[in-house]
Amino acid sequence: MFSEYIPSINIDYYKSLWAAASKTEIQNILYKNKISIDEFAVLLSPISLEMLKDIAYIAREKTIKKFGYNIGLYTPLYLSNYCVNACSYCSFNCNARIIRKHLTIEEVEKECKEIKKEGFDNILLVSGEDHEKVNINYLIDAVKIAKKYFSYVAIEVYPLEEKDYKILRDAGLDGVTLYQETYNREVYKIYHKGPKANYSYRLDTMDRAARGGIKRLNIASLFGLNDWREEAIYLAHHINYLRKNYWNVDLALSFPRIRPNSLGFKPLYPITDKELVLLIASFRLLDDSLSLVLSTRESESFRNGMIKICVNNISAGSKTNPGGHLEDDSDGQFVIADNRTSRQIYEYLRSIGYEPVWKDWEKVL
Ligand code: SF4
Repeated sequence: MFSEYIPSINIDYYKSLWAAASKTEIQNILYKNKISIDEFAVLLSPISLEMLKDIAYIAREKTIKKFGYNIGLYTPLYLSNYCVNACSYCSFNCNARIIRKHLTIEEVEKECKEIKKEGFDNILLVSGEDHEKVNINYLIDAVKIAKKYFSYVAIEVYPLEEKDYKILRDAGLDGVTLYQETYNREVYKIYHKGPKANYSYRLDTMDRAARGGIKRLNIASLFGLNDWREEAIYLAHHINYLRKNYWNVDLALSFPRIRPNSLGFKPLYPITDKELVLLIASFRLLDDSLSLVLSTRESESFRNGMIKICVNNISAGSKTNPGGHLEDDSDGQFVIADNRTSRQIYEYLRSIGYEPVWKDWEKVL
């Protein structure tokens, strides 16, 4: 389990690598076909920001070689904004005074129909942690309904047991998205109250999902909660660990940055645009088959730029409130920065010579 592996990661060692990095060392790394986590740490160095164009160029070459000019498209379908946790950065926090909504299975089906009309074949079912309304039976029904309309169905809900992942896989579930938020145990404690405060149980979620037969796993840190370089090292180890232990699972990495929310939470460790470009591009150099995902938390111009560098999967036409594709009668999780419709994104991708892929890209290639 990853919770048994993580104590072996010595962050101070990696800090010494990025603190001592030189431009020559970075240049040498750029010539390599495959890089180690030590070399990845060197790439994260502050001095790399002065070589960002070179790094982005290599990241683009690797991305085109592996994925061609294909960009996978998905959209989230929020099932419920009820939550028993009190995460300090989230609008769905149980103490937040927001308009709550939980979709019935009939409403889930209506949303699916509406989303399908836009062309999507890849859906992410999202919910806060609510064991009464969003229990395993509800999730089974929601996955089965979604599977009638979409060939790829993933969930982003609370951590489940291995047996539950097996049941959901049998109901048609293809993927699990779950962000650790921060891999630093002490920092994690500061932000999380409620069942989610169980750091180790969350950390081992992807082990349980992989053992439960889920074929695609998507991990992330929530950037802004902790030093982004430290989180990048943990993520790199988590990716390597999952590849080594569950070789037949496809892996994806997202890069959520904290967005304005109803709580007015301000990130203690903000990451700049340039640093985020460096971070995402460095992951492409570390692992060229990793799916790199960028959601509508980021602006139109930032996403347009990253598509041309190394991102190969994006959300589109997103709503962050339950039932938001049909009605606007509940509150969302965060403010969306890229408000283009899915059709506008589709047309933009075609205009720059990219192929929007509505289906799961791996099934297409
Ligand atoms: S981040 Fe997730 S668990 Fe935490 S309050 Fe928001 S919805 Fe609930």
